[in-house]
Parts: sequence; structure tokens; C-alpha cells
Amino acid sequence: MSSIVVLEPATEQILATLPEAGILEVDAVVQRAKRAFPKWRAVAPADRANLLRKLGDAIDAKLEFLANLEARNAGKPIGGARWEIGSVAQVFRYYAGAVERHTGQTIPVAGGVGMTFLEPIGVVGMITPWNYPLFLASWKIAPALAAGNCCVLKPAELTPLTAIELEKIALEVGFPEGVLNVVVGLGHVAGRALVDHPDVAKIAFTGSTAVGRDIATRAAANIKRVTLELGGKSACIVFADADIEKAANSIPGAVFDNAGQDCCCRSRLLVQKNVLDQFLGHLETAMKNWKTGDPFADGVDMGPVISSKQRERVTELVNSSTVLLQGTAPTGAGFWFPPTVLGPVAPTDRVAQEEIFGPVTAIIPFETETEAVELANSTIYGLSGSIWTQDGARAFRVARAVESGVLSINSNSSVRYTAPFGGMKQSGYGRELGPNALEAYSEVKMVYYRTDD
Ligand code: NAD
Repeated sequence: MSSIVVLEPATEQILATLPEAGILEVDAVVQRAKRAFPKWRAVAPADRANLLRKLGDAIDAKLEFLANLEARNAGKPIGGARWEIGSVAQVFRYYAGAVERHTGQTIPVAGGVGMTFLEPIGVVGMITPWNYPLFLASWKIAPALAAGNCCVLKPAELTPLTAIELEKIALEVGFPEGVLNVVVGLGHVAGRALVDHPDVAKIAFTGSTAVGRDIATRAAANIKRVTLELGGKSACIVFADADIEKAANSIPGAVFDNAGQDCCCRSRLLVQKNVLDQFLGHLETAMKNWKTGDPFADGVDMGPVISSKQRERVTELVNSSTVLLQGTAPTGAGFWFPPTVLGPVAPTDRVAQEEIFGPVTAIIPFETETEAVELANSTIYGLSGSIWTQDGARAFRVARAVESGVLSINSNSSVRYTAPFGGMKQSGYGRELGPNALEAYSEVKMVYYRTDD
């Protein structure tokens, strides 16, 4: 069996060497999940809820251990990793609460009554990326388990360690064997095996648009259900009537957090021309306070990028443009890249169109509100974005006109686990989080009961 070598991006040291699952191993895990499904779907919602609550609490109890593992493996500051793991626990508890209210309807129809039942789909294959490893996995696992499905998660090969721990914790708190399974392998081998497997009823994917396209195409062969959370090129639109200093101060967090490896990274800064100089002045000051370095050191805001391959891609894109502002990053071992602002760039430039997935953003000036909306909508993506203005009517007008699944006004927040999250256009389809996510893991069945003679 081949191996997967897992690195620590801040040091380039080996963190773990794991056996790599191939097609046969994926099949064995899917069969285990398939065997577990009939019993799991029959577990009463209240009992499923209890187990999900226990899982959330057990994650909290191991928060420090899991956060350390995530911070080392993904190269993220320990404070952020603690927040993510704490949020994972919350997501499990949230769906524990939701499952008991996940019920069908009774619909009077001619000659009788129609009843709807929300049935689990079966074995759900889940494929996740490396930027928020356990957090993004929990968005799929929690509602899927709550709705009575069995899960086979293939985490990103670069960051599988916390997912492996999650499987162990689930068994410890009492989930039956085979209900939550983790399989570690490469995307084009184990990931594809999961997508192609006839006993996998649905694929829930988060990752790049290119891989999402491959998954949707292959899943179409047997009408497998698919939800896709894909790439983004989110615009932050700053109007002249905004609190410019506040908007500029928010940019490092909105762009460089997680080293820009965030599908909601505001990788385009659309700034109204008459306040551009003022905005850039404040941004330069804000960037001076943004610290890149050892994820475990005090006061560090940003770690390295995930791999040398990722750094090469970021470097190549930055070299295709003009650097306007740049912070500093450590040298030596570790996949470091400094926080960078490009521009002003043309809307058709590669850096204005392609997802960079590094600590980089591009300035695109605009003159009118109409132009701002056109620019915001001028990529293939539609995941997230922000609107900075003190004119309430404009804020809503623009929010309605921008083609994006999530938008924030005078804020750069994208994710609240109690509210839906997902993309428009080539950022994907389906919604995660919030009350509706359970529907993505359920089939609606209608049963007609005849009551006339
Ligand atoms: P990726 O698409 O390369 O890989 C994601 C996962 O897919 C990994 O587990 C990988 O092993 C697997 N995979 C790769 N090829 C596959 C194939 N042919 N068949 C099945 N599985 C395959 O993405 P990445 O580089 O890990 O993550 C970065 C991407 O994820 C970015 O595009 C980012 O925008 C996106 N992302 C989206 C969201 C969202 O919610 N919309 C969140 C985070 C990341």
C-alpha cells in the first residue's frame, strides 16, 4: 500500500505518514457504511440528537488537542484553530437541536390525505479541502448524521489528521460502527472511487470549481445527488460614503486571514475612485499591524500557505501583476508568502478573474454604483462579498443586484452556522449550515392514505 506523507507547513517537517486508501479500501469502507445504514436510519431522532450533543461536548473536551493538531497541520494560528474546533462542537450541537424539528407534513388531498416523510438518502460521500479541515467537514457530517445518513468522509490528503480523530471520538461517545467513517486517500483515486461508487447515494463536496465540475460530470452517470461548495472571487465594494477608515481596517482580516486560503477571501477590492487614496493610506497602516509568523507565537495573525505548490501558484499570479502594498513574512523553512495588495488592476486581468487562494487581493477602482455592480458580477464566481456604505437604500439595492450566495453590509462576515451558506454561478449549488441543510441530506417521500370508500 502506498503512503500519504503529511507535512507541517510552518516547518516543512513530516507530521505523519499514513496508509493511502485505494479503490478497494474505499469500497470496504462504503460497504461498512452501507451495513450500518438500516439500523442508523431507524434510531429515533431524539437518540440521534443525544449522540450528536455528546459528540459536540467530547470535541469541546478535546479542544486543545484538536486545535493544536489543526494548527500544526494546516499552518494556522492557534487562536484561529481554537475558534474553528469550538465552532465544530457548536455545529454538532446545532444539528442535534434541529433534528427533532425535522418533520414532514400532513396534506389533505382529494379522497384522502398525503403525508410527507423526510427519509435519509443513504451512504453520503463527503470530500473536503485543506483550508478549514474539520470545520468544513462538520458542515456536512452533522446535518447528514442528524437526518439519518451514514457518512464516508475523504478529507484533503494534506490535512487528514483531525478527521481521523473525529472518527475515533464518534466511536467513543457511542455512534455505532460504520455510521461515521473516514478514508484517507488522494483525490483522483479515493475521491473518484467514492464519486463513482454505486452504493454512495450522494456526494457533498467542498473544493475547487475544476474538481467540482469533474464530480458533477461523473455523478451524472447514475444521477447521484451532489452539492458543491466551490471557489470564489469575492468583491468588497467600498463606496465613498462609507466609513473609509473602518472599511480599510477590516481588510487584513477579510483577505489575509487563513493566509487568504479562504473561499470567501475578499480577493477583489472595488473602491470608489474619489476615496481610493484615503482608503489606501488607512490600508497601509492596517497592514503594518498584521503579523505573519509561527502559528504558535503570541500575536501572530497569519501562518504560511499550505504547500510549496500553493506558494508557487500564488507567486506566479502575483508576478503577472503589479504590487501596490506588501507586508513581510519569515524566510527559511516554511511555505511563507507576505500579505500583498496588487493594483490598480484591470477587471479582465488574471488576478481579477482567477481565484488566487493566498494572502493577496487586487484593487479595482470604480466611479458609479452601476459600474460597481457590473464589476462585482464580472467573474464566473458568486460566493460571498461585502458592501461598505452608510446609505441604507444603496446597501440593499446593491445587495440584491450582486450575484452572490452570501453578502454582508458594513462587515466582511460570511459564515454563521445558524444561517445558510453557499454559492451562485460557478461557486456551486446547494446550501450548507442553517436550518435548511437537513433538507440536503433528506429525500421527501409522499405517502397517500385513502380515506373515502
Ligand atoms: P481541491 O478541489 O483540489 O480538493 C478538494 C478535495 O477534493 C480534496 O479532498 C481532494 O483530494 C479531492 N479531489 C481532488 N480531485 C478529485 C477528483 N477528481 N475527484 C474527487 N475528489 C477529488 O481543492 P483544495 O485545493 O483542497 O481547496 C481549495 C479550493 O476549495 C478552493 O477553490 C476554494 O475556493 C474551495 N473552497 C470552497 C469552499 C466553499 O464553501 N465554497 C470552502 C473552502 C474551500
